Amino acid sequence: MAVEFGDADILKEKILGIVSKCVRCRFCFSQCPVYEVSDKWVVQGASGITQSLYYGIKLNKIDEILRDILMRCTTCRSCEILCERIMAAVSLVDAIRMGRALLFEEGINPIREQQKALESLQVFGNPYGMPTSKRTAWAEGRGLKKLADPTDNISTLYYVGCTPSYDSRVQAVAGSIATVLQKGDISFGILENEKCSGDPALVMGELGLFQMLAEQNLNQFKHMNIQTIIATSPHDLNCFLKYYPQGIKTIELKHYTEFFADLVEQKRVPIRKVSKKRVTYHDPCYLGKHNQIYEAPRKILEAIPGIELVEMERNRQNSLCCGGGGGRMWADFEEKEHLAEIRVLEALETGAEVLATACPFCLINFEDAVKVLDKEDTIMVKDIAEILLEAMHS
Ligand code: SF4
Ligand code: SF4
Repeated sequence: MAVEFGDADILKEKILGIVSKCVRCRFCFSQCPVYEVSDKWVVQGASGITQSLYYGIKLNKIDEILRDILMRCTTCRSCEILCERIMAAVSLVDAIRMGRALLFEEGINPIREQQKALESLQVFGNPYGMPTSKRTAWAEGRGLKKLADPTDNISTLYYVGCTPSYDSRVQAVAGSIATVLQKGDISFGILENEKCSGDPALVMGELGLFQMLAEQNLNQFKHMNIQTIIATSPHDLNCFLKYYPQGIKTIELKHYTEFFADLVEQKRVPIRKVSKKRVTYHDPCYLGKHNQIYEAPRKILEAIPGIELVEMERNRQNSLCCGGGGGRMWADFEEKEHLAEIRVLEALETGAEVLATACPFCLINFEDAVKVLDKEDTIMVKDIAEILLEAMHS
């Protein structure tokens, strides 16, 4: 998959080419999480979003109304999976992503909070407006190698990402990943000057900014002779794998759960029995539905004696989105329910004491949801890396 650079006319042509394949069977409605939580919303379901885009182009109405419709999509990919099953195989997410780029080309302002995130990305290299000098603060005192020069001679990079670098809760996940790697005797480093992968710009339609960040990052990876990248966030991983320039293809790209599943299988990390716990695992959309990584996180949990893994009714390809993808971490929409709260209730139905996940956005959204539901005494939200590290402590 490549990024569709080009002017508005090229984007329009490509979008119409994709959306015209839709046979309007409406089966995808049932899979769309946005449809599930919208009551006042007149544009219905997944194909409703792309049909709005289709008619927006046909009737030359590329405006703020269309923007608000397109930006609601979490880009979870559930609709595409259903559409593949009925053989129409409409690439709805591609169309929506191109539609967002079209809004940019047509000069439609992004939603205010998203605009702020994009401006921060441009100025600070992260969407949170945090100083670059603080990016590696989480790593202080951990004895991590900070890569700045090819003579550092380390070819495995732990790419931390913006949210794990700056968010006080997710910093603990970055710390856990780094410690597991250290305990597994992996020779690795983090970048002294890490920047955003560009994923927020990609999903919000600012392709020029995405391209700039992708080129800067790739140049840095190449300059440092990086051979393997281990990423915290499924969003960054997806962006590297599918949208970076060709040069990235010579680098092995892994989510940390894949890397850890191998370490566990090869018995390169010591695991002890933990006190009996019922754990349910939420498949993050960009790990599962976008990249088919369903088993690695489960293998890690299953390798820990004492953990009983229980599945929610909606799992793997049918997992319910937490609501944080597609730039929605920087936008608030009026919806009758929050997706993350619905998901926490589904986790509670399993009787699990721990809701595990493997994505920074899921973690933040679920922790907020647990607080809103006042279930802090009943269920804890943890990242797979935190659970594995706990089982490694003697
Ligand atoms: S499932 Fe596919 S063909 Fe059917 S309405 Fe949805 S996008 Fe169109
Ligand atoms: S990607 Fe997800 S949120 Fe977006 S239209 Fe498809 S099912 Fe709905």
